[in-house]
Amino acid sequence: MSRIKVLPPELIAKIAAGEVIERPASVVKELVENSIDAGARRITIDIEKGGKKLIRVSDDGSGMGREDSIRSFDRHATSKLSRLEELFAIRTLGFRGEALAAIASVAHVRLVTRPPEENEATEVRAENGKVLDAKAASRPAGTTVEVRDLFHNVPARRKFMKGDNVETDHILNVLTSYGLARPDIGFQVTADGRETLSLRPTESLGERVAEVYGVQTFRELLPVKGLCREGPASYEEYPLERCIVSGYISRPSLNKGRASQVYFFLNGRWFYDRLLNHALLEAYGALLPAGRYPVAVLDLEMNPSLVDVNVHPAKTEVRFADEGRVHAAVVDAVRSALATAESQPHGIPGRVLEPLPFKLKAPAPKVETGAVQRTITGLTAPPPPTAEPGKGLPEVTILGQAHNLYILGQTKEGIVIIDQHAANERVNYERLSEQFFGGKVKSQTLLQPRTLELSAREKRILETHPQVFERLGYGVDDFGGKSCVLKAVPVVGGTALSPESLRDVIGELMETSGRPGAVSDAVTDKALKLMACHESVRAGEKLELAELRELVAQLYRAQDPYSCPHGRPTIIHMTRKQLEAKFGRS
Ligand code: ADP
Ligand code: MG
Repeated sequence: MSRIKVLPPELIAKIAAGEVIERPASVVKELVENSIDAGARRITIDIEKGGKKLIRVSDDGSGMGREDSIRSFDRHATSKLSRLEELFAIRTLGFRGEALAAIASVAHVRLVTRPPEENEATEVRAENGKVLDAKAASRPAGTTVEVRDLFHNVPARRKFMKGDNVETDHILNVLTSYGLARPDIGFQVTADGRETLSLRPTESLGERVAEVYGVQTFRELLPVKGLCREGPASYEEYPLERCIVSGYISRPSLNKGRASQVYFFLNGRWFYDRLLNHALLEAYGALLPAGRYPVAVLDLEMNPSLVDVNVHPAKTEVRFADEGRVHAAVVDAVRSALATAESQPHGIPGRVLEPLPFKLKAPAPKVETGAVQRTITGLTAPPPPTAEPGKGLPEVTILGQAHNLYILGQTKEGIVIIDQHAANERVNYERLSEQFFGGKVKSQTLLQPRTLELSAREKRILETHPQVFERLGYGVDDFGGKSCVLKAVPVVGGTALSPESLRDVIGELMETSGRPGAVSDAVTDKALKLMACHESVRAGEKLELAELRELVAQLYRAQDPYSCPHGRPTIIHMTRKQLEAKFGRS
């Protein structure tokens, strides 16, 4: 008897569905793509419980007649492709004919659709990959697809879904992407009954970008101009050697801890590409601090015959016939946008080269200055005042500072070199953690509350974890719409963080998982590290001897003085023996 069996069709369908539908955001992506392909001008998306309970996408597109509405649930049923060659001239986002079949095999689906030329709509219900029934219904021209209880019949997949907030964030990311890909389409999104994202149709990408990220952020962006804006009307007419890159990138001063606001589109299709992320960073080069990412919305236009869009069942990646050329086109376009910015300074001189957006430091509160004064008088005797024995740190006399970065000191056994930035980060980080876990980070009320514009994703993070932000020292008031009012900011090492730092902290929290309102310690820890780093004494700051001593004394009092919160060493000790060996004195 043969041991090899052909799998039952239902199982095959579920396995195939797994490739296309990984999480609620995949469903949203497929349905929105279908609406865009149907020529919709307005798309409405409602989700409940991170899309796990309900996803409903309605459009005013071309709709389907009775027969098509039933057939659309068949696997490999599509109206968008009939011959293989067409794959390389594809104008639609879909072409595999898999999405509706896949969704229907892992959720309860109800589709109501009507083409403009017909009077009657059709309602189709599908389950376990099969159409249950189809009946007459009524609705304006267009299509609504309702997907309930995703993965109700695939317990293994259900386990892989994250908390509602995380899934909602993934969905908002998909919708933001398509919002940026198609400024001409209106998007209306509600999550658990609350309006979460609302984008009016517009003809200009700039306007859409401003709508998504707020005007404040938009002002920090530079246009990337395609080489031939009035180019050919259809992609097929693009000269083969051309790859036109256009869109917006941020000035180097606006940067993020992760690449979550980097978007690439190819002929209107959102895709992910490591190579192009790399090209983007390469173009910025040293203008961006290490480990930081810009905001970028970049649209690539090229002849579709040079791109394979069918490399991934979820269509999230593409393959270029000539990767090198596309890479170079992105580097060139971004560099020339940055160069233009440098030649036209933007308000504050030198701003373009400023590594972090947290330039404006509020003056240190008076009390702190007093504290420093007191320490100075206490430090006339050879330091350190509190080199705790048992930690293995050598007693040190501070000699001075080198390169406005390294603190040099003499010990009984040799010399030490301390990285002042790393040391300050360590001190700040421990102080912040102590305050945070003991209740709340110290904060300072702003004389003038500051209004910050946030993206829908950022706003949601803020709304779902109000207590966390409160404990981190941010006093935030909801201001409705896209903005929030910041009334207080954390004080780190005697310096108030800039209001803008809130965005970066939100960025850290975007990766949270778990229950609403709960953020893991690991995540808050990352936020604390970020805060500790922002206002630390930076490399390049001249410090007085007393300040150097105070910093070293603080470092010596730290729980873990040997490394900064990111793991870099803070202190190098060279014994006299080692020095003697080096100088050949032994
Ligand atoms: P694909 O998009 O790859 O063709 P799908 O399974 O997503 O495959 O959809 C199957 C077909 O159903 C599409 O080719 C299209 O003809 C039709 N369809 C799906 N959604 C819509 C919609 N919102 N409006 C009009 N037609 C739709
Ligand atoms: Mg589709």
